[in-house]
Amino acid sequence: MARALPCITEGCSFCCRETTMPITASESARLSRRTGMKEDEFCFRDEENVRRLLNNDTTKACVFLATDSAEKTAPGICTVYEARPMGCTTYPIVLNDKDKAILDELCPHLDGFDEPEEEDAIRLLNLEERLGQE
Ligand code: SF4
Ligand code: SF4
Repeated sequence: MARALPCITEGCSFCCRETTMPITASESARLSRRTGMKEDEFCFRDEENVRRLLNNDTTKACVFLATDSAEKTAPGICTVYEARPMGCTTYPIVLNDKDKAILDELCPHLDGFDEPEEEDAIRLLNLEERLGQE
C-alpha cells in the first residue's frame, strides 16, 4: 500500500505559497472549465511566455489555495486538487541543471518522499517542452 504523503499527514501547504508554478495551455483550459475563472484571473505569462499561477494579494499563496493565513507554515487546502497542474502533482520532484530528477530541498518534509526515478525526469522534461506553447 502506498504510504500517505506528508502534504496530507503534516497538513502542509508550503509549496503553494508564493508559488511560481508553471502550467501548460491545456492545464489552464482545464482550470478555467473547472472554476469558471478567466485565465488572467489565475495565471500570468512570464518573460518567456510561460503561464505561471498567480498568488492572492492577501495570503501570498496560490489563488487556488483555501487558507486564512499568509504564514508559510499555516494549513491550506487546494480547491482544484483533482484538476491541479502536473507540476503540483509531481512536486517536490524537480529537475536539476543536468536534467536529473531530484527532491527539491525547499520542501520541509523530504523524508516522507521516495527518491525520484528516471521516469520522473522524462515526465518533467516532456512537461517542460509543453510550457509556453499556445
Ligand atoms: S510537497 Fe512538500 S512543501 Fe509541498 S505540500 Fe507536500 S510536504 Fe509541503
Ligand atoms: S494549484 Fe493547488 S496544489 Fe498547485 S500551487 Fe495552487 S493550491 Fe497548490
